[in-house]
Order: sequence, then C-alpha cells, then structure tokens
Amino acid sequence: MSTENVVIIGAGPAGLAAANQLKLYGIDPLVYESDQPGGLLLNACSVINYPGVPEGISGRELINLFQIPSMLIFGEVTKVYREDHLYQVHSNCGDITARCVVVASGTVPRKIEISGVAEKPIHYDIKSITGFYGKSVAIIGGGDAALDYAMSLSSSCIVNVYARGDFSKVIPHLLRKVLLLPAVTLHPGSLPKSSFSEDIIVVAAGRTPRVDFISANLLSSPPADGSFHMCGDCGNGIYRQTAIAVGNGVEAAMKVARYLKDVGIVK
Ligand SMILES: Cc1cc2nc3c(=O)[nH]c(=O)nc-3n(C[C@H](O)[C@H](O)[C@H](O)COP(=O)(O)OP(=O)(O)OC[C@H]3O[C@@H](n4cnc5c(N)ncnc54)[C@H](O)[C@@H]3O)c2cc1C
Repeated sequence: MSTENVVIIGAGPAGLAAANQLKLYGIDPLVYESDQPGGLLLNACSVINYPGVPEGISGRELINLFQIPSMLIFGEVTKVYREDHLYQVHSNCGDITARCVVVASGTVPRKIEISGVAEKPIHYDIKSITGFYGKSVAIIGGGDAALDYAMSLSSSCIVNVYARGDFSKVIPHLLRKVLLLPAVTLHPGSLPKSSFSEDIIVVAAGRTPRVDFISANLLSSPPADGSFHMCGDCGNGIYRQTAIAVGNGVEAAMKVARYLKDVGIVK
C-alpha cells in the first residue's frame, strides 16, 4: 500500500483551496471527489458575498476560477481511521495510507417525508436536473438555498416556494430580489397537505455534515498534532459560506505543511 503525504476528501471550495495552498509548499495532495469538482457551489445562482466580485457571479463561474488539483481521483472515500500515526483511507477505488488528511466533504441534504408527490422524483439540489424548461416547480423550504434555487429556475420555469415559516430567516438582499421575479410565488406558512400539482419537486430543507465515513475515534478526539483537519461546511455549523470554506482550506493546508516539516517529511 502506498503512503501519500496528504489526502484531501472533497473537491468543493474548501478542498480546492487546501490543495492550491499545499501546492505553494511543493506538496501535491491526492484529492478524492465523489461527484464533480466545485461541490455545492455549483448550485448557486448568484454569489454576491465573495470578495473581489461585488457585482455577483454564478457558483459555476466562480468555481471555474479555482485551480483543479493535478492529483484528482473521481472516487468516494468510504472509511478513514488512524493507526500507528498513519491514516488508512478506504475508497471505492482502492485503499491507501496517508500521513495527513484534510476532510472537506461538505454536507448532505436533510430528507423529509412529503405526501402528495406520487411518482414524481424529488430533487435535493438543482445542478443535476435536466429538461425543466417550461415546467412548473415546487420548492419546499424557507431558507437561502430555497430562494436561490427559485431564482435560478425562474428564467425557464414557473416556481412556487412553500415554507412552514415566513421567509424571515432569508438574507434580506436575496428576498428582495426574489420578490421582484414574476415567475416566482412565495407561499409562507403553507405546505400543500394532499398533493403537489407542479411537475418537479425540489426540497431544500437544510443540510447536515457528511462525516459518516470518518471513524468515531477521529470524530470524537481528532489528533491535535496538525495531521488531521475538518474544513468548510462539514465543520462549520450554520456558518456555511464559500469564503469561510476557502479560508478553512487554506488554514488546514498551512497547518499540514507545518506538520510535515516538523516531522521531517518535507523541507
Ligand atoms: C443554492 C445555494 C446557494 C449558495 N449561495 C452561496 C452564496 O451566495 N455565497 C456563499 O458564500 N455560499 C453560498 N452557498 C454555500 C456554498 O456553496 C458552500 O458554503 C460551499 O460550497 C462549501 O464548500 P465545501 O468545500 O465546504 O463543501 P461542498 O461545496 O459541499 O463540497 C464538498 C465536496 O466533497 C465531496 N465529497 C463529500 N464526501 C465525499 C467522500 N466521502 N468522498 C469523496 N468526495 C466527497 C462532495 O461531492 C463535494 O463535491 C450556497 C449553497 C447553495 C446550496
């Protein structure tokens, strides 16, 4: 089994930022991505809070500005644990050993029971929906993601957004923009009980950290020596923003570089 200096799990903004920073130290990390580089950000209609782009930019355009790591593996990490000061990383494309691990695995959608959707597929993000032109869409959720999805879809669909609450937690700038869109109707305090007449159902009911592949030991007592880091949305509670994820990735990379220097692996 080969030993890598650094394995990064996830090629969203946090993982890509960590990989880029490590490269500056002459360290080429091995990056695993189970879907597409860019992560959740690929869903974002308009990012207006990323420094340097005050006019706003789509998530896809923003991620296109990030460098793609040279050692990117399209595979899913299924297990990570530590044994004898090394990390065992199991994936659906083989097992390896690593000196350092940066977990940047983001989140998974919270699934909810919905009645009245019959045979209609339920989508938990929009980047993979195809053929929605001219269709009607029900979005279930009352947060920023629900309204960002509404904005994305409004140029080609009729959109109804259903929420238990009153959209008061949505960032005001986004709410103001969505209220101006003729194709979008907000339904505060109402989830249709019996049926959804819309063609497509999108659920944006919150997300939870994607950490099921990390051993219980690592999660409860992460090593403090600098060899293991969790960064970005998977470790940020409710503070899930791209700039924060990028900052976490850079910080993790700096600490990993210092660890590898301290133990004499890199100069
Ligand atoms: C609709 C929407 C709009 C948004 N708008 C904004 C905005 O305007 N401004 C802003 O700052 N933020 C916005 N965000 C939030 C932003 O997208 C996230 O904060 C950011 O993407 C988090 O980056 P990350 O790298 O931590 O996680 P993610 O982007 O979730 O990336 C994690 C990556 O890890 C991969 N992965 C997970 N587990 C494994 C595994 N076991 N093996 C291999 N790969 C794995 C995933 O496939 C994914 O690509 C928005 C999010 C949504 C959904």
